[in-house]
Amino acid sequence: MGRVETLFVLARAHAAMKFPWLAKVEVRFCRQADATHKKKWRHFAHTNHDVYTVCFAKASEEDLTDEEILGITAHELGHIVGTRLRYPEHARLNPPHWKKPVEEEAQRIAREVLGFTNLRLNHRQLQELSI
Ligand SMILES: [Zn+2]
Ligand SMILES: [Zn+2]
Repeated sequence: MGRVETLFVLARAHAAMKFPWLAKVEVRFCRQADATHKKKWRHFAHTNHDVYTVCFAKASEEDLTDEEILGITAHELGHIVGTRLRYPEHARLNPPHWKKPVEEEAQRIAREVLGFTNLRLNHRQLQELSI
């Protein structure tokens, strides 16, 4: 997969220090992610497709900086933890994806629970983790 996989593995290793089961989360490219990204440029990844899987749009390899790939990974791992540990917004039946409360909860989990303390939105309105 290239750069996306390398950086995903790096961020996942950090998160797995908090929850060892996160080590089994996989990364892949998927057509659905490509299609969503085409419609809405900011959407490069999702977690709600298959359990314990983060899907990226292929465009991520070319269009994202290293910091953005790490940031998006950290945020998506936040969603996976929110779902598995049944954080309130993630535990809702049919959680509205990309709605504010669930996004903020994922962000808070990534920062405060998984320890990605410098995760933030950058000037492109994309997740970014400075390294
Ligand atoms: Zn997918
Ligand atoms: Zn999200």
